[in-house]
Amino acid sequence: FMRVIVQGEHKDLGDSSKTGMELLCVVKAVLKKIKRRVLVGDKVVVGSIDWVDRRGVIENVFQRSSEILDPPVANVDHLLVLFSMEQPTIEPFMLTRFLVEAESSGIPLTLALNKTELVDEETLFSWKSRLRSWGYEPVFCSVETKSGLDSLAFYLRDQTNVIVGPSGVGKSSLINVLRSNHRSSPDSLEGDNFFDPISGSKWFEDQRVGEVSTRSGRGKHTTRHVSLLPLSGGGYVADTPGFNQPSLMKVTKQSLAQAFPEIRKMLKDNEPAKCSFNDCLHLGEPGCIVKGDWERYSYYFQLLDEIRIREEFQ
Ligand code: GDP
Ligand code: ZN
Repeated sequence: FMRVIVQGEHKDLGDSSKTGMELLCVVKAVLKKIKRRVLVGDKVVVGSIDWVDRRGVIENVFQRSSEILDPPVANVDHLLVLFSMEQPTIEPFMLTRFLVEAESSGIPLTLALNKTELVDEETLFSWKSRLRSWGYEPVFCSVETKSGLDSLAFYLRDQTNVIVGPSGVGKSSLINVLRSNHRSSPDSLEGDNFFDPISGSKWFEDQRVGEVSTRSGRGKHTTRHVSLLPLSGGGYVADTPGFNQPSLMKVTKQSLAQAFPEIRKMLKDNEPAKCSFNDCLHLGEPGCIVKGDWERYSYYFQLLDEIRIREEFQ
């Protein structure tokens, strides 16, 4: 079953009273047959609606603007990469892996550093200038002392957000402070008395799957739960943090350079000049315009090697 939140207005209804209403839906068998998986965050077409019992059938899925796999969420429009100053401390290569994975999704990202109360001003300042040289403007926060949470909320506002980062940095704690209180209870999600809806009029407006739970086997529930929690300022945050271990599976040798703001900047600053080779990997090839005098160049090199090995074994 999936919870679908009605957004927008149906032209046959002539009013907006259904906006925000929650429908409990099943996925039409034909969608499963053609392996169109419905993800949390998807905008869907719902038919056979019973407005009284609030049931419906998901008949189709709109094209996605983005799709991430960990956690599985569609139409994410902002990633918050969260690390902490201490416990655990920032490990620059690990941070680079997360940033590369996030950059490669094509979704805009913000980098935030939590647990600022555990370090002194000087440490914050030196990380700030270091990360600036990488091309990022970090947001400092502390879930513990609540400092910086307002400016984080500003970045998350009105968007569908997923928080990613290593374990222990405070992702779950942050999700907990961000979630607003008016979350409805999903108690009815796993009820067995599903009402078979009569065929009704088609619903094709902007609708969003708010929550997915899958069921397999008779009487047994194997639930993989991802929900989008409404934010008090508007927008959503996924209740499940992602990329505990960035796989970099979608990154190729050729696309890696684009995941480094330093390289993007060097290429842009040199326009209209280009590297001599179209497929230049910027490793000192003749006529390459990307220099090697930046902090993360060795990380770029290391990741390139890792991807090269993976591609050879595929
Ligand atoms: P996650 O693994 O990223 O989801 O991290 P959690 O949210 O589970 O937090 C890990 C630990 O860090 C918990 O004990 C939190 O209470 C603690 N924590 C979270 N935010 C802060 C913070 O701003 N300062 C400090 N000192 N501890 C924090
Ligand atoms: Zn080059």
